[in-house]
Amino acid sequence: MSNEQHPKTLTTDAGIPVESQEHSLSVGPDGPLVLHDHYLIEQMANFNRERIPERQPHAKGSGAFGHFEVTEDVSQYTRAALFQPGVKTDVLMRFSTVAGERGSPDTWRDPRGFSIKFYTTEGNYDLVGNNTPVFFVRDPIKFQHFIRSQKRRADNNLRDNDMQWDFWTLSPESAHQVAWLMGDRGIPRSWRHMNGYSSHTYMWVNAQGEKFWVKYHFKTDQGVEHLTQEEADKQAGADGDFHVRDLYNAIDDGNFPSWTLYMQIMPFADAENYRFNPFDLTKVWPHKDYPLIKVGKLTLDKNPTDNHAQIEQAAFEPNNLVPGIGLSPDKMLLGRVFAYADAHRHRLGVNYKQIPVNAPRSPVNSYSKDGAMRINPVSDPVYAPNSKGGPVPDAEKYPTDSTWQTAGDLVRQPYTLHAEDDDWGQARTLVTQVMDDAARDRLVNNVAGHLLNGVKEPVLSRVYQYWHNIDPTTSKRIADAVAAAKKES
Ligand code: NDP
Repeated sequence: MSNEQHPKTLTTDAGIPVESQEHSLSVGPDGPLVLHDHYLIEQMANFNRERIPERQPHAKGSGAFGHFEVTEDVSQYTRAALFQPGVKTDVLMRFSTVAGERGSPDTWRDPRGFSIKFYTTEGNYDLVGNNTPVFFVRDPIKFQHFIRSQKRRADNNLRDNDMQWDFWTLSPESAHQVAWLMGDRGIPRSWRHMNGYSSHTYMWVNAQGEKFWVKYHFKTDQGVEHLTQEEADKQAGADGDFHVRDLYNAIDDGNFPSWTLYMQIMPFADAENYRFNPFDLTKVWPHKDYPLIKVGKLTLDKNPTDNHAQIEQAAFEPNNLVPGIGLSPDKMLLGRVFAYADAHRHRLGVNYKQIPVNAPRSPVNSYSKDGAMRINPVSDPVYAPNSKGGPVPDAEKYPTDSTWQTAGDLVRQPYTLHAEDDDWGQARTLVTQVMDDAARDRLVNNVAGHLLNGVKEPVLSRVYQYWHNIDPTTSKRIADAVAAAKKES
């Protein structure tokens, strides 16, 4: 018999059968309502508390569940359990835009978040990436200012292209990411049609303790596709949730999206004299220096059933690293290692790792105790060291070896420059060598259109100089397009 014919009995949150969902308890049919109608109060109180703080950046997004399967043998580079040959690991993924709020259109020009939680046998491993291999800034002290410049003004609460370009042109390290953003990949056709990158450099350590610097590249098996600015603008009006819907419907139809994982792997000792600083988040490692090495396939095959519980409350954090994987001296990464967990404590509360979607599938034997919304029971002993049989570290099995050597005075200085480091070179390569003529035409149109929407002097002149530093021809074309459009209007 179907649910419709025999629905379940409605209860309060305490499981008590409810008498009516049509009528509040009143003093006579036309009289006032009474405060002890606890079901009515529960409904109103619960509703008032449904929203939790949205993520500061990356507020708009959605995700799905699936698995990652290792198809090759990369055990010579890492002993991480999830990357051993043939291992299949359940995953949760979330995609997002960066600057927009929870209700903002999916097709605004923006990088996209590409976050993965691997439920491994040795704890949760989170890779909190983007659909771009680089970023706008290289020091976390600038991150907050960068995000504010992309969000809303104080006075009119509007986004402001002048503010965006003001920050970018005063931060020349942004040039590579801005050139990427203004190109085709700044608006993917869907989340299924974009690549994902760790962007950061991480460390892999093998069973012998040998270390490597690595970058992750998830290449879409659906092919890279984009929307033009015109298509995206139209879509933003027609369906602001276009990308959320696309992913959900594809999975619902059994059309499971997948990505093939490739790694760039740099021997540990190469870092010191590599032509680019390999830890600078505004740079890629050219493929010809470190070719892509295939690892396995990530597939999404299960939609969430409760978007709030499973996606909005999902907490990805770059500090969730498992044995065989470590950090690198990338300053942005080191900043994120604090910032993400801190954001989760604020948004979800101190015990957010006990929310089922964030809970590891491997045993948890920690000394964390109490706090708001604790669910897992705590047992004695509640301190360490103890002689009562509490958990102890296994330093032999899990040595502290994902580390690097460093020494020096405490300073506030930029990274040490490597032979070919500058802010413009890789952006220039992208614009003049990777993009073809048609892609460059679209880039010029995209930038000119963006500038025509509120960018004023003195920022405008700085924008032309900024593009001149990337490529004088492209800069002139942008300036000409802006001048022509102004003349016409
Ligand atoms: P390669 O020719 O080996 O690689 C070029 C890369 O650019 C490919 O990964 C390609 O991705 C990607 N690409 C193609 N069109 C665009 C576009 N419109 N916007 C952004 N990326 C695009 O060259 P190098 O490795 O020497 O890199 C040259 C430049 O390519 C870099 O300066 C960087 O801007 C960009 N790039 C480099 C990446 C890297 O990790 N080395 C990764 C992504 C971009 P696909 O394979 O999907 O076509």
